[in-house]
Amino acid sequence: MSMDHTARDTMKAAGPARVRDRRLTPLIGGALALMCLAALLAYPRLERAYAIAIGARDSATLELTIQNLRGALDKAEVLPPLLAERASIARLLRDPDNSGLLPFVNEQLRQTALSLDVSDVYVMDATGLTIAASSYRTDRSFVGRNFAYRPYFTDAIAGGIGRFHALGTTSGERGYFFAAPVIDGTETTGVVAVKITLDDFEATWDESATTVIVQDMANVIFLSDRQDWHFRTFGPMAEAALESIVTTRQYPVAALRGLPARRAALGNAGYETVTFDMADGGNSYIMQTGLIAAAGWRVSILSPLAPAQLQAANTLAIALLVALFILLIAAVIWQRRIQLEDRLAAREDARARLEARVRERTAELDETNTLLREQVEERIRAEAQLRRTQAELVQAGKLAALGQMSAALSHEFNQPLAAVKAYAENAATFLDRGREGEARENIRLISAMTDRMAAISKHLRNFARRPQDKTGPVPIGAVVDDALAVMGPRLAGAQAVLTNSLPTEDLWVIGGRVRLQQVIVNLIGNALDAMEGLAHPKITISLAVEDGRCKLMVRDIGPGLSEAALAQAFDPFFTTKAPGQGLGLGLSISYNIVRDFNGRLTAANHSAGGALFTVELDLSAAPDEIAAQ
Ligand code: ADP
Repeated sequence: MSMDHTARDTMKAAGPARVRDRRLTPLIGGALALMCLAALLAYPRLERAYAIAIGARDSATLELTIQNLRGALDKAEVLPPLLAERASIARLLRDPDNSGLLPFVNEQLRQTALSLDVSDVYVMDATGLTIAASSYRTDRSFVGRNFAYRPYFTDAIAGGIGRFHALGTTSGERGYFFAAPVIDGTETTGVVAVKITLDDFEATWDESATTVIVQDMANVIFLSDRQDWHFRTFGPMAEAALESIVTTRQYPVAALRGLPARRAALGNAGYETVTFDMADGGNSYIMQTGLIAAAGWRVSILSPLAPAQLQAANTLAIALLVALFILLIAAVIWQRRIQLEDRLAAREDARARLEARVRERTAELDETNTLLREQVEERIRAEAQLRRTQAELVQAGKLAALGQMSAALSHEFNQPLAAVKAYAENAATFLDRGREGEARENIRLISAMTDRMAAISKHLRNFARRPQDKTGPVPIGAVVDDALAVMGPRLAGAQAVLTNSLPTEDLWVIGGRVRLQQVIVNLIGNALDAMEGLAHPKITISLAVEDGRCKLMVRDIGPGLSEAALAQAFDPFFTTKAPGQGLGLGLSISYNIVRDFNGRLTAANHSAGGALFTVELDLSAAPDEIAAQ
């Protein structure tokens, strides 16, 4: 039973919560979608910001790279004019076939190259033919080679300073060539050239994560730590530039292929993003470029974009995690709140239910109350109705009694009247016959009959007449004495023994003196009637005080009351006596008298035999005491 109850409660509690859960789920879903959208939108910006930061970080590297390169070039640039001053070189150019001088110059050049740490130092005559070189002892000796096609030669022979970078046709090395004219008097007799290689730079660059590319004005990558990018073009190449390359044999033409790349500006600090679409390295970079104006070079440093992407992804991941965490906490708080609300709602519901039940009960009670009140009113009405009916019945009873009484009266009167008539006729006859004695006897009988009728009439008068005496405090002892005085002759005649055990002190009761005396006389008379024929009749009159009431008891030792008499003794005209001896009105009248005093007259048989009549009356204070009060 209790299990069922609990289960039902749980279900009830879970019901609304589940409904809200369904509301919470799309909310979380929406938040997640929003977060993903925000992440998608934020990612490119983040990547960009990190890329710019990386660019800023690597801008110093670019600067350093440019300075180093420029330093190397500047150092090498001053060498050819200085060497061109050498007398030995001028002399050799004047006398190229001097077999004694040539080895000297060659060795001198070799020593110079070694001490200056440059790749090659060599001397060309006016036709571009190399007559002496630092590499004279090696396989790749420049001696005997003609470099008239190289711009540095043409520039220098024209009297200027020649500078040029190219893939060495002899050495197969990429080199930077500087050249200066050898002026003998007023005549330019030849050119001194210095070649430096920049491979060491590449080796240094290779050690760092960044990639360095050096492009010339034709967009050809000339230097780079990415070996595979050497001589690749990065950006458009003009037709004239290609022609020049072919003419000057600057680069191997076959290697000149464009690097497939997509470029986009990045921020406003001059950065670019470059994505190379290549099978081996389709990588993205942040590119920034600086210039070495004298050489006509553009030095670019390419920082990989991947760290920026990784950083952006990391940042986003952390942000997402934090957002998720916050979302989770929010969801938990939300859930808690919903549960709390549910609990409050359930409590409110229970309270409302309780109130409703109380209201119902109150209404029920009100209804019951109203019903009871109606019933009480109904009772009161019924009682009034009953009383009215009773009164009507009493009236009807009185009428019936009147009818009965009339019948009894006519019976009671008709007999003596018939007797009176007979006796009168007899008396007349006796007088006619002169028999005076008999006539007198008949007249006496007539008188007796008349007396009897007078007695009946007197009783009736008493019955009908309004009481003359007032109802008030009466001394009951004195009233009993009066009654005994009235009954004195009858008592004496019957030789009855009277036991009068009345208290000596004055006892006052509420009643009418004459009527109360009449009641007592009646009771004593009935007692004497009942004991008629007894040798030793005895009447006991006693008084008792109980519960503020006075009880006057009259007891005889006669046969007592029969069943019928006990039931009907107080009914008018009930009598067991012979006609002419009792009217059956005594007790009825006595009963009414006592009732008028707010008292009670009861009949009973004494346990020791005989009838016991009790008059119960209200006690009262003596009139002088009342007056004193
Ligand atoms: P009555 O005396 O004229 O008959 P009552 O009303 O006084 O009328 O009495 C009615 C009847 O009650 C009597 O006829 C008698 O049967 C009965 N009764 C009254 N008093 C006594 C008594 N003391 N003992 C026995 N019966 C009595």
